[in-house]
Amino acid sequence: MTSERTRQRMIDRLRVRGIGDERVLMAMAQVPRHLFVDEALAHRAYEDDSLPIKFGQTISQPFVVARMTEEVIKHNHPVKVLELGTGSGYQAAVLAQLIDQVFSIERIDKLTRIARRRFIKLGYRNLRCKTGDGFDGWPSEALFDIIICTAAPEQVPYKLLEQLEIGGKMILPVGDKKQQKLIAIVKEKNGYHEELLGEVFFVPLLEGVVR
Ligand code: SAH
Repeated sequence: MTSERTRQRMIDRLRVRGIGDERVLMAMAQVPRHLFVDEALAHRAYEDDSLPIKFGQTISQPFVVARMTEEVIKHNHPVKVLELGTGSGYQAAVLAQLIDQVFSIERIDKLTRIARRRFIKLGYRNLRCKTGDGFDGWPSEALFDIIICTAAPEQVPYKLLEQLEIGGKMILPVGDKKQQKLIAIVKEKNGYHEELLGEVFFVPLLEGVVR
């Protein structure tokens, strides 16, 4: 159930659902998603579903990870990406297959620790994570080419655009429990523009850190 063949079937299904970027499919074929969920759920790791992780959080659905990753690498060769909401670490690991430097922030310290252990075990050297409040970004590592948010704030945290390069992009779900849209905000010299990417559902982006 956790074999390479099962993982390949997930990739085939993503292709059928419209994921066309072979780089993304290749990256997802390389990351063992079953190692990012609890052992009891490992047999379901390659279904196209979000699954519960600890502390009431979820690992994102493979299709959503694929869509967001496609959106990240559409930009001209991003080298530095910041993720808000490490969770299981799966999205960050997929990004680390494709991007030189990945930074990820998680507000629940225990989740950060579990994810960090996974990154070390799997040998990711281009991936750093820390416990913090994503609303603050990671100022000492800014500027980023992309900021990707895998939890939904109710309003766009425009302040984070300060940590983006000009031409950089923030990809995030925005909304409440009832309705969310996935948007991309491209930072320009004198402002920004927004694109609507579709409807999604993520857990909320909450303020403050849990130790
Ligand atoms: N990218 C994750 C998805 C995890 S769900 C994965 O691939 O598994 C979203 C995560 O965002 C949760 O773990 C939640 O604790 C975290 N989160 C919520 N608000 C946050 C904030 N302000 N800063 C950092 N992380 C936050």
